[in-house]
Amino acid sequence: MDKNLKNNFRAKLLTIQKELTDKLNKERLFFQNHNPFQESKDEGDMGEATLESELERTSQKRIYQLLELINQSLKKIEIGTYGKCELCQREISLERLEAVPYTPFCSECQKRTEKTSQ
Ligand SMILES: [Zn+2]
Repeated sequence: MDKNLKNNFRAKLLTIQKELTDKLNKERLFFQNHNPFQESKDEGDMGEATLESELERTSQKRIYQLLELINQSLKKIEIGTYGKCELCQREISLERLEAVPYTPFCSECQKRTEKTSQ
């Protein structure tokens, strides 16, 4: 992968990183101001609050996972292994990297991991 391409992907990754971090910060602020448990009055409300915070945790967990993948990708750009599939060591196609710049796997390995995890 040449230097311009690397810079291009680094810029993309940093943009996504910033968006995700902003989103996390906004959600954190929102939940500090709107704590669903403090506003609950009876047990029926508690049920909803639990479900809401459960959904909230899921999306935050996903964001943290993405941020972790982004950090790893940025490190790989520095050490020169970016764009290689972690499983089969083949080059990940540029189209795939354009679409999902933080992916650690080529599309074939991704399909395989999705099948086994289901
Ligand atoms: Zn692969």
